[in-house]
Amino acid sequence: MFHSPGAAIATYTYHGSRLSQLLGCVDKVDKWKLMHRAEMESWVNPQNNLVLIGDACHPMLPYLAQGANSSIEDGAVLGLLLAPERFKSKAHLPNTLQLFQQLRKARGEGIVRETFKQRKDFHLRDGPEQEKRDALMLDQLGKDLKGAFPSRWTCPEVQPWLYGYDAIKEVEAVVPAKSS
Ligand SMILES: Cc1cc2nc3c(=O)[nH]c(=O)nc-3n(C[C@H](O)[C@H](O)[C@H](O)COP(=O)(O)OP(=O)(O)OC[C@H]3O[C@@H](n4cnc5c(N)ncnc54)[C@H](O)[C@@H]3O)c2cc1C
Repeated sequence: MFHSPGAAIATYTYHGSRLSQLLGCVDKVDKWKLMHRAEMESWVNPQNNLVLIGDACHPMLPYLAQGANSSIEDGAVLGLLLAPERFKSKAHLPNTLQLFQQLRKARGEGIVRETFKQRKDFHLRDGPEQEKRDALMLDQLGKDLKGAFPSRWTCPEVQPWLYGYDAIKEVEAVVPAKSS
């Protein structure tokens, strides 16, 4: 970790660059490692009384700005499953945690995989693949996008999947709320 802007400037920038000018404006800098991890076999412990959510089980690269969003989705689903209208007895905890995992694991890990795909598409080395990507992006400039698009920030397939998620509908579909 860098503790001084000077150390960061010395490592990453050359004298007079825009980045060194920007770093010259701050008193302190921190360096974050971009972390991800292999998919886990289970987010629920063998005793069935503890579940991981958020970065603890699906940390991701920041290519889609989805780490916090997907963690909040986890929290919303877990909260709804554990709400008094659905969760009537502690004896139901193992089933509830398994249901949570069933609802959330594939999506959380799916978002992580999209971040890797975005990293690949954004960082193609010069060559035929990069030329194909650039040609596609240029061809689509100013048009209504259709089908898969290399930038998932505007891709008409990825965007509705990312932002159309409704935690309440997801839970209601499998465990409708019952008033006691
Ligand atoms: C620079 C940066 C930019 C980001 N930008 C975005 C973005 O634009 N959009 C987005 O969706 N996501 C973004 N993220 C990712 C997002 O911040 C994380 O994915 C999200 O905070 C994960 O939430 P979490 O609750 O799982 O974990 P955390 O937010 O890490 O919360 C874990 C909490 O547990 C506490 N804790 C740890 N150990 C213990 C302990 N032993 N006892 C008690 N408490 C403990 C920690 O102090 C912390 O408060 C960004 C992350 C970084 C670093």
